[in-house]
Formats: sequence, structure tokens, C-alpha cells
Amino acid sequence: MNLYMDKKELKKRCKNPKFCIACFRVRRHVKVDEHHVCLDCRKGSTGMPRRLRAITLKNGKTYFVDDRLRELRNIHNPCDRIDFEDLRLHKIDLLNW
Ligand SMILES: [Zn+2]
Repeated sequence: MNLYMDKKELKKRCKNPKFCIACFRVRRHVKVDEHHVCLDCRKGSTGMPRRLRAITLKNGKTYFVDDRLRELRNIHNPCDRIDFEDLRLHKIDLLNW
């Protein structure tokens, strides 16, 4: 699986309205809403891998990417959560690209 595509690629993909920020894929055949979340991720598709990805933000903290709850969760502190929506709207500069 291509979990860690390079940063340029990721940035480029985010300009694509069909790119899902939750599963980090371009969903050509699945509806992607204005929040960059595809229908599969909205519904919590059974086809989604259960193992959570981890990403490190520019603040140096590492978070699990929880597609089902649509949030980032600090691997050391479960109370430290960032909603995908919040990330996209207010903390996009924290993404390490
Ligand atoms: Zn998705």
C-alpha cells in the first residue's frame, strides 16, 4: 500500500476534488464530498483496512489516522485529537509537506 506517497504528490492530489483526505486516495468511481472525504470513508466501508496509519505533523507529534472517526489521535495521548475537518480548515499547515 502506498501509505507514504511523497509530499509533492500529496499536495497535488489535494487539489483534486476526487481526492479523499481520509483514505488518501483519488476516488474516481466513488463520490467525494466537499470535505475531501469519500463515500466509503463516510460510511466506514468494510473494505477499509482496520490497522491505523500513523503520521507525524510539523509540531513533532505523531498521530494515528482514524478514518472511521475522521480524526487524528495522538499515539501517546488519546485525548489529543484533531478532527479531519479542523485539520483541513485550520491546521492544514501542520501537515508535513
Ligand atoms: Zn476515503
